[in-house]
Amino acid sequence: MTVVTQPELATQTPGDPISERLKASGVRVTEQRLAISKCLFSGGHRHLTAEQLKDELTQQGQKVALATVYNTLHQLTRAGLIKQIIIDPQRTYFDTNIHQHHHFFYEDDGQLEDIPNERIAVSLDQADPRHGQGPNGTKITSVDVVIRLQRDKG
Ligand SMILES: [Zn+2]
Repeated sequence: MTVVTQPELATQTPGDPISERLKASGVRVTEQRLAISKCLFSGGHRHLTAEQLKDELTQQGQKVALATVYNTLHQLTRAGLIKQIIIDPQRTYFDTNIHQHHHFFYEDDGQLEDIPNERIAVSLDQADPRHGQGPNGTKITSVDVVIRLQRDKG
C-alpha cells in the first residue's frame, strides 16, 4: 500500500516569518497551508469565515478547495495560532487575535468587531472569573462574550 502525503515545501524562502511561525507551532508547512496562512495573516487582526478566506484566495488566483481551507483553519486553531468564534451552527469565524477578548456581532451584515477584554466584566455566583475560578472547584479556561447588534434602520 502506498501512503500519499502532502510534500513538505522544500523551496520555501528561508526565514519567511509565517512559515517559521507555523513550524514553531508544530504545523507541517505545505504549499497550500502556507498560501492560506499568508492570506489569513495579511493585514492585522481579522475575522474571517472559511468561505471568505477561500474567496480571497480565489481573487489572488490561488486554487484551493474549501475543505483544504477548513482543514488548515482547524489545524491553525489547534496549534493556537488563531481562535475559532462560533456565532451559530452555520457561522464560524476564525480570529487572528488570539488574546482574550470579546466581540460585537452585527447581525445585519455579519461583521465582527473586537471588544477589549477589560471592557466586559463577568460575574458569577460562587465563582470568581477574574481569578479563573468557576463554580464547584472548576477552573475557567476562557470567557467569550458575543454582543449581538442591529443597526438602527431609521
Ligand atoms: Zn476578535
